[in-house]
Amino acid sequence: MDNKTFRNAMGKFTTGVTVITTKVNEDIHGMTANAFMSVSLNPKLVTISIDNQAKMIDKIKTSGKYAVSFLSDEQVDVSMHFAGQKKLEGRFEFDYLLDLPVIPNALASVVCNVYEAHVVGDHTLFVGEVLDIVVRDGNPLTFFGGKYGQNLQIEFVNN
Ligand code: FAD
Ligand code: NAD
Repeated sequence: MDNKTFRNAMGKFTTGVTVITTKVNEDIHGMTANAFMSVSLNPKLVTISIDNQAKMIDKIKTSGKYAVSFLSDEQVDVSMHFAGQKKLEGRFEFDYLLDLPVIPNALASVVCNVYEAHVVGDHTLFVGEVLDIVVRDGNPLTFFGGKYGQNLQIEFVNN
């Protein structure tokens, strides 16, 4: 099977869009990721999957912690910025949760210590133990078929 067939098929699985952030000393690093999953309730664990070529790999290995911010439908520009696709102008101002940078106005931000790391093929899974969370109202930014979608909120009608 070629890579295009695999990516096209995986693109049929609709996801949200996150920005992973970490900090090494005072150096902040962020990257866009849709490979996020909630893993366990007791203990509270999540996981992210990062390409072994990404700069984020060494940053998380060094810091031993990371945050995941779930983007809202008003944050396509933030997703594109942290994917290196289109630059936002000026210095990006982060919020902070437990001294880790997070994306302002995200639907939720989750701060984790690295619990386990597994190199799996050409990616690394960082399982994170959740230390703190902040949640806001809003609609999600989605990713389907290699394209962003917005305003996917479904209204349920009582018959
Ligand atoms: P870079 O490419 O150097 O950084 C990413 C961008 O963030 C750069 O433009 C950089 O200038 C900016 N940036 C970083 N830190 C800061 C800062 N402190 N202040 C301001 N700007 C900053 N890749 C995966 O491995 N896993 C995934 O799950 C995944 N999902 C994706 C989902 C989507 C929808 C998209 C569009 C891309 C996804 N990618 C994923 C690809 C990934 O986002 C890019 O390959 C990214 O460029 C990798 O980042 P990097 O760590 O190598 O660092
Ligand atoms: P795309 O069509 O490349 O992505 C569709 C789906 O394929 C993604 O949602 C993901 O599930 C899967 N996928 C894509 N690249 C992958 C990779 N290297 N490893 C594992 N799964 C992968 O979407 P696009 O708009 O062309 O993506 C923009 C860029 O972001 C591309 O360079 C793409 O490789 C990268 N990306 C990487 C991942 C990832 O590493 N997990 C996920 C999404 C996008």
